[in-house]
Amino acid sequence: MEDCLFCKIIRGELPSKKVYEDDDVLAFWDISPLAPVHVLTVPKKHIESAMKLGDADAELLARLHHGIREVARATGIEESGFRIVSNVGSDGQQTVPHLHFHVIGGRQLEWKA
Ligand code: 5GP
Ligand code: ZN
Repeated sequence: MEDCLFCKIIRGELPSKKVYEDDDVLAFWDISPLAPVHVLTVPKKHIESAMKLGDADAELLARLHHGIREVARATGIEESGFRIVSNVGSDGQQTVPHLHFHVIGGRQLEWKA
C-alpha cells in the first residue's frame, strides 16, 4: 500500500533494523521499545489488522508465528519467555494500520490492560 509506514519499511523506502525475513514475513526492532526486546513481526502483504484476516490467510498466519519463533531465538528470549501483542483498531490503540505482532521480552513483564 502506497502510504503505509510498514509497507514503506518492507519495500526498503524507510530504514529498519531487521531481525528476521523470509518471503512472507519481516521482523524489525520497534523504534520506541517498551522492553529490552521489542520487535515487530509483520506480513509483507498489506493487511490492515487481525480483523481483516480471512480463511485464505491461514498459511500466512502460520508463517507469521514461525517468524515470531525465529525472532525469539534470534534475540535470546525463547527460554525466558515473552509476550505477543497485536493491537486492533481504536480501543486497541493500534497506531499503524498494517497488521503487526509486537514481540516483547527481555525483562519480567507486568500484565495490565
Ligand atoms: P501499534 O501502536 O499500532 O500497536 O504499534 C505500532 C508500533 O510501531 C509502535 O510500537 C511504534 O513504536 C512503532 N513504530 C512507529 N513508527 C515506526 C518506525 O518508523 N519504525 C519502527 N521500527 N517502528 C515504528
Ligand atoms: Zn502496509
